[in-house]
Amino acid sequence: MPDTIKYKAYSLSNFRDIPQMDEVAEAIKVDIEVVGQVLPFKTNNFVVDHLIDWAHVPADPLFVLTFPQRDMLLPHHYAEIAGLVQSGAAPAAIKEAANRIRLQLNPHPAGQISHNVPTLEGEQLDGMQHKYRETVLFFPSQGQTCHAYCSFCFRWPQFVGMSELKFASREVDRLVDYLQANPQVSDVLFTGGDPLIMSARHLAQYIEPLLDADLPNLRHIRIGTKALSYWPYKFLTDDDAQDLLALFRKVGERGKHLALMAHFNHPRELEPEPVRQAIAQVRQTGALIRTQSPLLRHINDDPELWREMWARQVLLGCVPYYMFVARDTGAQHYFAVPLVRAWEIFREAYQRVSGLCRTVRGPSMSANPGKVQVLGISEVAGEKVMQLRFIQGRNPDWVHRPFFAKYDDQATWLNELKPAFGEAKFFYQDELEAFYRESIDASHAEDYE
Ligand SMILES: *Cc1c(COP(=O)(O)O)cnc(C)c1O
Ligand code: SF4
Repeated sequence: MPDTIKYKAYSLSNFRDIPQMDEVAEAIKVDIEVVGQVLPFKTNNFVVDHLIDWAHVPADPLFVLTFPQRDMLLPHHYAEIAGLVQSGAAPAAIKEAANRIRLQLNPHPAGQISHNVPTLEGEQLDGMQHKYRETVLFFPSQGQTCHAYCSFCFRWPQFVGMSELKFASREVDRLVDYLQANPQVSDVLFTGGDPLIMSARHLAQYIEPLLDADLPNLRHIRIGTKALSYWPYKFLTDDDAQDLLALFRKVGERGKHLALMAHFNHPRELEPEPVRQAIAQVRQTGALIRTQSPLLRHINDDPELWREMWARQVLLGCVPYYMFVARDTGAQHYFAVPLVRAWEIFREAYQRVSGLCRTVRGPSMSANPGKVQVLGISEVAGEKVMQLRFIQGRNPDWVHRPFFAKYDDQATWLNELKPAFGEAKFFYQDELEAFYRESIDASHAEDYE
């Protein structure tokens, strides 16, 4: 085994200590300091030493992936914060302005907080979300941060302390109770943050009770993670790496399927030898790695990158799963790719790979009614339209029914699309609105203030 490599985090307080920063222009550092007041910023020594191509900073996509960029704030927001920082304003004044700006960045997209919290015997189960019939999301309390922060992440409000998902480890008992009461649930998805920020011991405290509970309906345990690319030593040389791999193995031995839902945003993340070794180690446990990423301007809005990324993933034994559309929150104005362009990029990449890579689905928006895929552009009865369908729906009956929106090559999100053929509403809208009314009645009225 090679020597242990010690994790070192960099944030606003110490990023100027990064040796590679010496070559970076002062104006770029100031931008980091200004934008980093509003949006979360954390990177680490693996990202800095193995992923970023410092010869191409600031445009390098993997630099953009974890370092704040000037244009991630709208110009008037940037000017306001820069003015405060440069005039030496008190931290409280900067924080007050930052919070005001954050509230304008749609901090809670897709009703994550208001509509998806499950209940059991009248009690709200905080730290869980249940939106699609088969899958419950579980947010372990110690897993709510990451080895580095992605600048596009829709969970950014959590990382700047605007929304907290608090709960104690005992709540895994409530998860077990909930799974017993809901036999339609086959999947538990551990998410965060990054659950693999946790020690193997903490993770075992969540997973072992699930294995011990004798839940015939529970088949698949999933873990959403970016640790393979942001901290591969988690699976190689960290103190608990072997314990973590043993835990993965145990899930399989107990008759359940472990799926790592791995985030990779750029093919370069699959190059470093430690990342490849980490993938190999995970595969040897019997866990399956599925991969997903949003499509992001400035990072990966090029079909050739996706083609290369999917092909490398399959070569390494991973299964391409989702291409997402950048969510309508945070710095979406910086990352957004119009839906029509997103579909073109998906199609051009998809055409260039063999069927082994075509397990991937997209481009898909995780919107309020469900995961909506842009299927393509067609002309129907003389009207140019966009064809869409649900990959997942709040109502499972909505899934895989094609529906049509007016062609709009500027729209970047579902709420900007209008129904085609002169119709007033999309087919699911009445039912969705009824659902909202009910969830307001059921005590979520405060979310609408
Ligand atoms: C994407 C998602 C899931 C998982 O969906 P799959 O299509 O089964 O991978 C579950 N819950 C929520 C809220 C999601 O956004
Ligand atoms: S690793 Fe995942 S949760 Fe963490 S910042 Fe990146 S996208 Fe967000």
